[in-house]
Amino acid sequence: MAVDATQPYDDQNIFARILRGEIPSRKVYEDDFSLAFHDINPQSPTHILVIPKGAYVSWDDFTAKASDAEIAGFVRAVGHVARDAGLVAPGYRLLANTGTHSHQEVPHLHVHIMAGRPLGPLLAR
Ligand code: 5GP
Repeated sequence: MAVDATQPYDDQNIFARILRGEIPSRKVYEDDFSLAFHDINPQSPTHILVIPKGAYVSWDDFTAKASDAEIAGFVRAVGHVARDAGLVAPGYRLLANTGTHSHQEVPHLHVHIMAGRPLGPLLAR
C-alpha cells in the first residue's frame, strides 16, 4: 500500500524499528544524522537505502521541517556512502519516492542508491 506523504509519522514503521535496533539490517554506514543499510530486496547489484535518524515521513516532510544541520548531514551521508562504495566512477542513481504516485512503501524518508550495472531509462515505460 503506497504511503500518503501528508500522513503523520508512524513510529512503528519498519525503518523506525530498524533505527531502534528492533529489526536487523545490513548496516553500511552510520553517523549522528543518518543510517545506511542494504535494501532487503535489491533492484540492482548495489542497492543501499540511506535514512535520516529523525522522524520524517518523506522528502517533503524532511525538507519542510528538518534543521539545516540534519539536511546537510543527510545529504553529505548519501554522497559519502556512494563514494565509499566506489560508485562515483561507474555512476549511480538516487531515488526518493514521495507519496502515492511514486509508490512510496515505507513512511520514513529513504534515499535509494542504485548502481552496479547500466540502469536503463529513468522510468518504466
Ligand atoms: P519505497 O518503495 O518506499 O521507495 O522503497 C522501500 C524499500 O524498502 C524497498 O526497496 C524495500 O525492498 C525496502 N524494504 C522494505 N522493508 C525492508 C526491511 O525490513 N529491511 C530492508 N533492509 N529493506 C526493506
